[in-house]
Amino acid sequence: MAWRSGLANFFLRASCPICKRPSQGVFCRDCDRQIDAYFPGRMPDEAGLLPVSVYCWGRYDGALKRAIAACKFEGARAIAIALGRKLGQHWQQEVRQPPAQVVVPIPLHPQKLKKRGFNQAEVMAASFCAVTGLECRPRWLRRVKETKPQIETRSRQERESNLANAFALGETVRPQSVVVFDDILTSGATLRAAIALLEQHQLRVAGVIVLARTELGTRQWEGRNV
Ligand SMILES: [Zn+2]
Repeated sequence: MAWRSGLANFFLRASCPICKRPSQGVFCRDCDRQIDAYFPGRMPDEAGLLPVSVYCWGRYDGALKRAIAACKFEGARAIAIALGRKLGQHWQQEVRQPPAQVVVPIPLHPQKLKKRGFNQAEVMAASFCAVTGLECRPRWLRRVKETKPQIETRSRQERESNLANAFALGETVRPQSVVVFDDILTSGATLRAAIALLEQHQLRVAGVIVLARTELGTRQWEGRNV
């Protein structure tokens, strides 16, 4: 029977990156429904990770976690586009007055970009902007230092020094408000470093948009003054 299902897969366009079952769209109908079941919107930043408000699709778990992991490690640009579009559609329904017109995605270091082939945060942001009509400015921020994955750092101090001077401005821009975009919010150290750099250059960060936020961010930092 194996050859039969192989033949069926051949004729279907692709398999769902989350559950690997055959699917007509980017995700199968089941996984698509599971991703849609997350509750996007403004998430309370109980731990005070960021100095600005956060718009987030949902917790980094289940189908959403698997979708982000698939687009990061399997190089599937279509997944990042689909996720950015979903986020944009919800944003349009819920946010009447965008806090800024310009969206700046968190960049990857050129070495990492070469290895991975594309920056998932940038692709998601571009897709988000295509839906919302905001302007995506992926060149305004550059990553100038190769940092180790934040997950491998053990303390807040190590996280902050890992990110120190990690970013630079990529273009000369006039002072204005921007929104910063990333795929995952964990400790917030990356976003804090990017926000600090942008604000040094008179770019007021009016908010942050992320696809998912880890539980780790809440648990690990709870009650601490970060
Ligand atoms: Zn699926």
